[in-house]
Amino acid sequence: MPELPQDHPPVLRVAIDVPLHRLFDYAAPETIAPEALKPGQRLAVPFGSTQKIAYLVGVEEVSEVSRKQLKPVTRILDQAPLLAPDDLRLLHWAARYYHHPLGEVFAAAFPVGLRQGKAAILDLPIRYVLTDAGRALDSAGLHRAPKQKQLLEALQNSPNGLSEEQLAAVENWRPALKQLLAKDWVKIGDGDMPADAALPLIKGTPIECNPEQSAAISEVCDGLGRFGVFLLEGVTGSGKTEVYMQIIREVLERGQQVLVLLPEITLTPQLENRFRQRFAVNIAVSHSKLTDTQRQTAWLSMQQGVCSILLGTRSALFTPLPRPGLIILDEEHDTSFKQQEGFRFSARDVAIVRGKLLNIPVVLGSATPSLESLYNAQSGRYRWLQLPNRAGNASAPRVRLLDIRNKALHEGISAALLAEIRQTLDKNEQVLLFLNRRGFAPTLICHDCGWVARCAHCDANLVIHFREQKLRCHHCAGEQPIVKFCPSCTGSTLTPLGLGTERVEQVLPTLFPGKTVIRLDRDTTQRKGSLEKYLRQINEGQADIILGTQMLAKGHHFPNVTLVAILDTDSGLYSIDFHSAEKLAQMIVQVIGRAGREDKPGTVILQTRHPEHPLLTTLIREGYNGFARQALDERRAAALPPFSHQALLRVQASDAFRPKVFLEEVKKLAGKLQAGETLILGPVAAPMAKRAGLYRYQLLFQDVNRQALQQLLDSLTPAIDKMKKEKHLRWSLDVDPVDL
Ligand code: ADP
Ligand code: ZN
Ligand code: ZN
Repeated sequence: MPELPQDHPPVLRVAIDVPLHRLFDYAAPETIAPEALKPGQRLAVPFGSTQKIAYLVGVEEVSEVSRKQLKPVTRILDQAPLLAPDDLRLLHWAARYYHHPLGEVFAAAFPVGLRQGKAAILDLPIRYVLTDAGRALDSAGLHRAPKQKQLLEALQNSPNGLSEEQLAAVENWRPALKQLLAKDWVKIGDGDMPADAALPLIKGTPIECNPEQSAAISEVCDGLGRFGVFLLEGVTGSGKTEVYMQIIREVLERGQQVLVLLPEITLTPQLENRFRQRFAVNIAVSHSKLTDTQRQTAWLSMQQGVCSILLGTRSALFTPLPRPGLIILDEEHDTSFKQQEGFRFSARDVAIVRGKLLNIPVVLGSATPSLESLYNAQSGRYRWLQLPNRAGNASAPRVRLLDIRNKALHEGISAALLAEIRQTLDKNEQVLLFLNRRGFAPTLICHDCGWVARCAHCDANLVIHFREQKLRCHHCAGEQPIVKFCPSCTGSTLTPLGLGTERVEQVLPTLFPGKTVIRLDRDTTQRKGSLEKYLRQINEGQADIILGTQMLAKGHHFPNVTLVAILDTDSGLYSIDFHSAEKLAQMIVQVIGRAGREDKPGTVILQTRHPEHPLLTTLIREGYNGFARQALDERRAAALPPFSHQALLRVQASDAFRPKVFLEEVKKLAGKLQAGETLILGPVAAPMAKRAGLYRYQLLFQDVNRQALQQLLDSLTPAIDKMKKEKHLRWSLDVDPVDL
């Protein structure tokens, strides 16, 4: 390598958070020693007329830009990079695999504050710890002050102390804490939170496992310290979480960190509680309902080794782990692991690559594994661990298809179902009704002329929201007051058509007088804490009927629910997207999992007009695995994923014709570029051809050979970048799309 001329500072190649498939070169500050420059460092750089945060990718000697034009970096933000070399490797891999600009991929790895250039200082919240007197105290003596007793016990169980946020688990904790402080039993902890390694790890006693659980635990534990993927398949209640916790314990004992990824933030509090009861280590939590500061604290406390466990959603995947030991992805089939905009990555797939780079095991858990993961397990690429039975005493529910052809329905409920609900309520047990459509009714139609209320900006009907007296589009922000007269014929017989949760909620009190109904959907749980409040009410028995959308299907533990019914099983049975059968089957099985936990047997009723549909009959007769076998056979026959690989190029523009014309050009270009035999299907209009005022088209690439597909995309994406485009035309590539 030639010596660097002394008067030429090195060239800094950086990634910047802009939607361009390229890197940028800057001159290093003259004053800085080249050894001080490491890939991954954040820099501030001039960009156009502003300053931007950049991520150092490489230190080079030469640039395509002439020396004179090379602008100097403004500032170096990090003394040392916040990401480890393996993390950087992962980001490079992801940018290449998803054909996404590296700067945006880097940005996705950092919490918002760091992305904006804030200093990486771990600002830990105030902690309360016991004084010597408090530690020595027998909490039984506080039986007349139950809140104080509860707080004291919580603190006695947490040698690291507890933050206000954690203490808030005890209702009305503030006055009680004041008392404890006044009595000198509790004080504010000083100094930093101790790094985790030297603590007692476990406090709760682990449950005695059944043989399947023990086998799963020892298989994964035998694999600690090296890469391997485990698919832990077990119905809801089969004890997967217990398995996770016992594996985590081993990892903690090795002084290592654990990353646990979850699909829905609504599940995090439940799991967090169980983890806090079991483990005495510092636990970080990160999801979208937390503030930017809280998420940055979680990120930094893992990055600095202060916390040993991170519970987080998709975006937590890239959090640095200086002592990596294990990655767990719970509910691995959940499509919320796939980011659906911007940097469209699959947290599941990237987690596996991360496990490989870090040389640690990855555990995927689900009651209804994705067909991709099942296929990988069947072909031996993943270790397949099965928990076939419900743990403890809980027995599997009885599942029944209820034929509602030619049956009168009362707001979606058949007479037979009505009778079942009555019987269950008479026993003082809870009923869960499931309807995957929020709002009052999905359609407002004119009885006289057939006019239907449509969104002006989307190919979609407006949904009636009765309480707010609004017509709302569920695909854009569009809304308007409910119209009283038909805009087309001025008639006044406007009729709501179809069923939403709000409509069912209105009729339930008349059908079941004196019974309490709780509705759980996006509309009723918007306010912070409202979902938690409802869940608490349900578990405390303050609800007889729980009605909700698919939000209900996800992992919530309702011990007193013994009857579950799906009101509209058929929606989704005849979709054009091949993914929808899998999603429907998973949803049904997840819903079934809500019934009859503990030792009360459960009943599940699926109202359907297609009781002979093979998806339903197979699912009932042979369970999810029977369905999956059949679905995989169909996918194999049609050469669909996982037997081939896909990428979807989506284009949208305000002009109705541009997207199609543009994609036809792309298709021609791809035909010229391709060396292999990648199928190029389309362009076709997107399932929702117009959305939020934009017209949408798509082009599908498919190949049984992943390499060949990747090679085509490698040469195609820069070429698309260079194509002449209308100013407002936007394109994006979705590798391994989960919906078409
Ligand atoms: P999953 O995560 O598969 O839904 P959990 O781990 O939450 O299952 O277990 C469901 C319930 O069964 C929990 O209350 C858990 O404490 C309990 N449980 C788990 N394993 C056992 C076991 N081996 N014996 C008795 N109860 C168990
Ligand atoms: Zn009309
Ligand atoms: Zn709309």
